[in-house]
Amino acid sequence: MPYFDHNATTPLSAAARAAWLQAQEEAWQNPASPHRAGARVKALLERERGRLAELLGGGEENLVFTSGATEGANAVMAHLAAHSAPTARVFINPTEHSCVRAAAERWFHGRVEWLPIDPDGLVASDALDERLHAGGAALVAVMAANNETGVVQPISALVAACARHRVPMLCDAVQWLGKLPAAELASADFLLAAAHKFGGPKGVGFLRLPAGAPARGFSFITGGGQQGGRRAGTEDYPAVAALVAALTEAEMALARGESAPRLTWRDRYEHSLLPAIPGARIVGGGAGRLWNTVMAVFPQGANHRWLNKLDKRGFAVGTSAACTAAQGSSSQVLAALGFSPAEAQRAVRFSGGWATTEADWSALLAAVIEVRNEIAATELA
Ligand code: PLP
Repeated sequence: MPYFDHNATTPLSAAARAAWLQAQEEAWQNPASPHRAGARVKALLERERGRLAELLGGGEENLVFTSGATEGANAVMAHLAAHSAPTARVFINPTEHSCVRAAAERWFHGRVEWLPIDPDGLVASDALDERLHAGGAALVAVMAANNETGVVQPISALVAACARHRVPMLCDAVQWLGKLPAAELASADFLLAAAHKFGGPKGVGFLRLPAGAPARGFSFITGGGQQGGRRAGTEDYPAVAALVAALTEAEMALARGESAPRLTWRDRYEHSLLPAIPGARIVGGGAGRLWNTVMAVFPQGANHRWLNKLDKRGFAVGTSAACTAAQGSSSQVLAALGFSPAEAQRAVRFSGGWATTEADWSALLAAVIEVRNEIAATELA
C-alpha cells in the first residue's frame, strides 16, 4: 500500500531493525548493573551517544535519551520555568507541534507570547530580534521543519538573534532529522528528536541540551541517577542503537544526494496537481519545504472523505498532525496561517519517505484526480 503519511510515523529502517535485533540479543542487560555484562552495555550505550553527537556536530555530554520529543519539550519547559524569574516569558512560533505549545502553556501559563509569522509560516529574525529587545524572555521555540506543511525555518538566523539577546533557543528537529542534514542544526541550544520519524522505533528520542551552564542541574524525571542524573529510568540500549542506526542510514543517503531526485518527484506531483484541480492550494508553497511533504487545501470535499476514498484505493495519507486529527480537532497550524475552519477541513497532507518512488507519486496523482472527480460529481449533485 503506497504510504504517504511518513510525517505521522515511518516504517522501521533495515539498519534500525538489524541494530535493534542484535542489541536485544547480545546487549540486553541493564547498563547500570555492576557486573561485566552491564558495564559492556553501558559502554555500548555511551558509544552510541558519541556516534549521535558526531552526526549532530559535537557535544555528547549534552545528549539525553528520552522517550521522544514530547518528553523533551516538557523537560525543557519545566526546567526553565523552575530556573527563571517568575515573570519570565516564552516566545513561541504559532505553528509549533502541540507538544511544544502545550508544554509552554502548562509550564509558563499566562506567559506565552506568539511570534509573528509570514503567510507561509516563516518566523522573521528581525521580528524576533525586536521582540527580544524588551528583555524578560526565558526561551524562544521555533521548529526546524513543520510537520504539516514541511516549511523549513531559517534556524541559523533565528539562533543568531537569540544569541544576541542571550536567550536560549529550543528547536523541535523532529521532522528535519533524517530528511535534511542534522549538522545544520548544530547551533540550536535545545534540540528535540523522536526516532520514529526517521526510521527508528517508537518511544525513543533525544534531547540535546546547550553546552555549559543551562545543562548543569538539568533534571526532569527523578528516580535512579541514570544519564548523569538528567533523566531517570533504565536506558533502552536496543532502542538507542536502532535510533542511531536509522539516523546514520538517512544521513548517508543525504550525503549521496538521494534527496534531490525525491524533491523533483514531489515538485512534479504538485505541478501536475494544481492545474488538474483548479482552486487547490499548496500550503507554505512560497517557502522552502521538506522534500517529502505536500499539504494541499482542496476546493471541495471534507478531508475525511478524501482520506477514505484514497484509503480505499490503497493510499494512506494524513490530514493535520496525527495526534490532532485523532482527537477530531482541526489543524492549529492552518489556523495560525490564517486559513478558515472550512478551509482547514479540506486540507490533506501527503508525506513520502525514502522508499517512496516516482511511480508512487504518479499513482497518487492519478488517484487524487479520480477522487476529486468523484467528490465534484457528488457535491454538485
Ligand atoms: N514535533 C513534531 C514536529 C512532530 O511531528 C511530532 C510528532 O508528531 C512531535 C513533535 C512529537 O513526537 P512524539 O509524539 O514522538 O513525542
